[in-house]
Amino acid sequence: MTHGHSDHARPGHDAVLATPETIEIMQSRLGNGAGRTRQALGYGDALKIGDVTVTLRPAGHILGSAQVVIDYRGQRAVVTGDYKRRTDPTCTPFELVPCDLLVTEATFGLPVFRHEPDTREIARLLASVTAFPERTHQIGVYGLGKCQRLIALLRKAGYDRAIWLHGSMIQLCALYERLGVPLGDIRAVADATSSLAGEIVLSPPSALGDRWSRRLADPVTALASGWMRVRGRARQRGVELPLIISDHVDWPEIIQTIDETGAGEIWVTHGREEAVVYQARKMGRRARALALVGREDEVE
Ligand SMILES: [Zn+2]
Repeated sequence: MTHGHSDHARPGHDAVLATPETIEIMQSRLGNGAGRTRQALGYGDALKIGDVTVTLRPAGHILGSAQVVIDYRGQRAVVTGDYKRRTDPTCTPFELVPCDLLVTEATFGLPVFRHEPDTREIARLLASVTAFPERTHQIGVYGLGKCQRLIALLRKAGYDRAIWLHGSMIQLCALYERLGVPLGDIRAVADATSSLAGEIVLSPPSALGDRWSRRLADPVTALASGWMRVRGRARQRGVELPLIISDHVDWPEIIQTIDETGAGEIWVTHGREEAVVYQARKMGRRARALALVGREDEVE
C-alpha cells in the first residue's frame, strides 16, 4: 500500500505491506478492515520476495506515503503512488530513485496545472483573516494529509492561535502528533463557547455551507486543493477563497521526474494519462497509459 488515502487503502485487503505510519493510519481509519495481515516496512529497508527485492522510499504526498521500488535481475521499476516534490512539514520529502521503468501518477497531468507556492496561498488566507475579523474562516480540507499540512503551514507562517477542527478530524490529528508531527493549539469546534468570529476552522469540504456551519460567524468559505486552479470548480462549490494547495506533482514536476529518473519506459496512471504519455514520447521515452483503477478525482 503506498499510502492511507481511501482511494488506495480500501478496506478488505488480505495482506498489507506498507510503512509503519501508513499501517497506523489504516488501523485508525479502518480498524479490523485494515487487512488480515499487516507487515510494516520502513523507508529503505529491503524485503526479499523470491528473486525480487522490494523497498519503500518516501513519496512526499502525506505522512507515511511511499514509492515502491522493485529490483529484479539488475532492472529496477519504481511505482510512485501519489507523490509531490515540494517541501511539506508533515512528511518525509520525496526521494528521487533512478530506474528503468517509472510508473507515475498523473492527477494533474495537463500543462494548465501549475501549483502556486504554498507560502503565497497561506499569505492570502491570513490577509483575509485580518481583513474580516468579524467572520469565521471555514476551510474545506481533506481530513488525512491536507488538514495537517494546512495547520503546519499556518504554524510555519507564524500563526500560533488556536485552530478549530470539525469533529471528524480530531482523531487523525492526534495520530499525526503521536507520530511526531506537532500541530500546536488545536481544538474541537464542539468545545467552542462562541461563534468563532475571527478564527480559523477546518472542516471536510462537504460541510461548507451545510447545517453544521450555521454555528459559525458568517463564514468566509475557503477550500484547499490542487483543483482550485480550475476556477469553475471553486465557483460551482460556492467557495469564496480558493486556495491552490496540492499534495500532488503539477505538470512541470511530472516532466521533471520523468527526466530525472532516467527511466526509458514510462507507465502513466491515476489521472490525465494521455497528455503525459504524449509528452514522455516527445522526450524519447517509451510510454503507455495504465488503467488500473477508477479514481474519484476530488480525493487527494
Ligand atoms: Zn493520495
